[in-house]
Amino acid sequence: MIQPAQTDADLRYLNTLHLPARAARLQPVDDASDLPALTEAARNTGGSILVLGGGSNIVFGRDIDGTVLHMRTRGIDVLAHTGSDVLVSVAAGENWHAWVAFALAHGWHGLENLALIPGTVGAAPVQNIGAYGVELIDRLDHVDAWDMTGRRWLRLSAAECLAGYRDSVFKRELAGRAVITRVAFRLGTRPEVRCDYADLQRELSSRGVAQVTPQHVFDAVCAVRRAKLPDPAVLGNAGSFFRNPVLTADAAATLLAAHPDAAHHPAADGAVKFAAAWLIDQCGWKGARRGDAGVHDRQALVLVNHGEASATDLLDLAADIQASVHARFGVTLEPEPLILL
Ligand code: NAP
Repeated sequence: MIQPAQTDADLRYLNTLHLPARAARLQPVDDASDLPALTEAARNTGGSILVLGGGSNIVFGRDIDGTVLHMRTRGIDVLAHTGSDVLVSVAAGENWHAWVAFALAHGWHGLENLALIPGTVGAAPVQNIGAYGVELIDRLDHVDAWDMTGRRWLRLSAAECLAGYRDSVFKRELAGRAVITRVAFRLGTRPEVRCDYADLQRELSSRGVAQVTPQHVFDAVCAVRRAKLPDPAVLGNAGSFFRNPVLTADAAATLLAAHPDAAHHPAADGAVKFAAAWLIDQCGWKGARRGDAGVHDRQALVLVNHGEASATDLLDLAADIQASVHARFGVTLEPEPLILL
């Protein structure tokens, strides 16, 4: 049964930055098959339509004059089991970390490095979430979605999702159009581990682990993240506020000639990815606080809301960080979350 929409709804606790915002209508979506009727109703009522999962990658700079579709669908279904592969379809409203833990408990491997990322499964393909050397696209089989504009169901293969670095078709051609309803993952039943990130290696060796298993990786990622990143339930944040800038080989050589110690890693096609956190830290921002808007004291890439910060407070701080990084390094930092102004 379709739950009624709540009118003039408070969104503060539906976004992990805890920014104050209201929605004219907050419509829970508990069954994806209701989406054609719900999107039609939202269109007839008027105003904009926003799809919300865990609210962990959004900056509410304004109220929503129309309908927020709050994805709360549940369900994890095995579609196929072949050899050492399992194909599992997960409903959009499932909590991401709970799904990663569920997969591990069932002996389905490949997502351990993505443990503790806040948000829902349905939001994961939008920015192709990634951490510690693994991206969603590495394990993605297909995405099911309702196309609000074309009024039809879509199934996009991993290739059709065109997922790049924290990017996908859902941020581009299908932005504001596709409501992701299910995500299907291809996971392995044979243990395989990826642990080449320095923080992860340090954590694993501090635990004296000789033969690394997916469970070790999961535990180590959780420990590193808990030590370094703020828990949104305790301190409002939207994870990394800026993307790591990827520079051409020539631009990278110029930057490295002037700043040989700049933290960097090779990216695709000879490009070079620089650690945005390092650039921000060098400009003295780590732990900075302006009113209730601040920069996390253990990770300069994360902006935090100490209590009553507004979107303007956070965005003013972000703009000053961008300006100082640009002035010192000539690098433009792009925000990672969706900013609604
Ligand atoms: P870190 O380990 O301090 O490394 C700094 C940056 O250098 C990372 O952003 C990472 O890029 C890159 N890097 C480090 N080791 C690398 C390697 N062996 N190969 C290629 N690139 C490497 O990073 P952190 O801030 O603590 O974050 C750890 C991981 O969690 C990263 O993968 C980060 O992206 C992810 N994370 C994501 C969010 C988010 O909101 N999107 C928030 C927190 C953490 P990549 O970002 O490309 O991995």
